[in-house]
Amino acid sequence: MKAAVLEQINGELVVGEVGVPEPQFGQALVKITASGICGSQLQEVAGNKGNAKFVPHLMGHEGSGIVEEVGPGVTKVKKGDKVVMHWRKGDGIESDFPTYTYKGKPMRSGKVTTLSEYSIVSENRVTPVPHDTPDELCALLGCGLSTALGTINEEANAKFGESVMIVGAGGLGVNLIKAAKLASTFPIIVLDIHENKRTVAESMGATLFINSKDQDVQEEMQKNLGIKEVDVIIDTSGNKQAIEATIPLLSGTGRYIMIGQPKPGESIELHTALHLFGGEGKSIRATQGGGFSPSRDIPRYVKLYKAGVLNIDGIITHRMKLDEINDAIALIRKGQAGRILIEM
Ligand SMILES: [Zn+2]
Repeated sequence: MKAAVLEQINGELVVGEVGVPEPQFGQALVKITASGICGSQLQEVAGNKGNAKFVPHLMGHEGSGIVEEVGPGVTKVKKGDKVVMHWRKGDGIESDFPTYTYKGKPMRSGKVTTLSEYSIVSENRVTPVPHDTPDELCALLGCGLSTALGTINEEANAKFGESVMIVGAGGLGVNLIKAAKLASTFPIIVLDIHENKRTVAESMGATLFINSKDQDVQEEMQKNLGIKEVDVIIDTSGNKQAIEATIPLLSGTGRYIMIGQPKPGESIELHTALHLFGGEGKSIRATQGGGFSPSRDIPRYVKLYKAGVLNIDGIITHRMKLDEINDAIALIRKGQAGRILIEM
């Protein structure tokens, strides 16, 4: 099969021929229909995920597919089922790592990978969904959209009418705008250093877009919304300066949620840290996928989508082929994309 392989850290991905093994105990063979690309994959390319010792390896952790075959012990899915592939653990067996073949050598891989035509996936990384669930929704539910919904609903516990700030309007940021909108928060303030994100952020439902490279954030909030503080701030950038500049904007009941990961070894300074004791006491929290629980949440989210409550229009900004994977990554790096969908 064809698959995107990370051969060397900071190199281009190689779309090459990879041999697929038979599914073993607790594994399913999935024919992939679509995959998203997440900020995590950019971190992997840079070797920031402790993955340098595992190259060459396969990539991707949010996908849509159809089960082709299941290994011994698998009961959660069967041949022909449509599934969401996700990196968070759901119900089912935690299988061993699969071993593919690449350039005549064995290649060990992760328990879920999605940037390939087929994948061997651990039973607890697939969740069956009805056949009429769109591929793009399935791919988004594997990470980006589920992380966004979990972050707003579980981690931030955002209340009706609370103000939300989203730092970074990339793939995760656009999902967060939708999630913040769904939770009836207001206003929704979006920060990005790329002016070209303004239109997409506003069309997704941002109340105010601030170009934090050229504009003073607090001044813009005051001028346009009459507020100086925000109840929930979510950083998707992992950027030290952006985090340090926005923590002091928390309201008296403010919750700061970090999703974007700083670089390994990097420190973040709390400027005028005393302000954290203001009001009711504020919190700063680093989240793992928004606390998203695949077996519990995916069926709920599919139900909301079908009822017309959860709207995903505009989240996918580009649809590309596996052969264009390096162009896709370049677009994300340059801040020119929301979520990109790779269609197999
Ligand atoms: Zn992800």
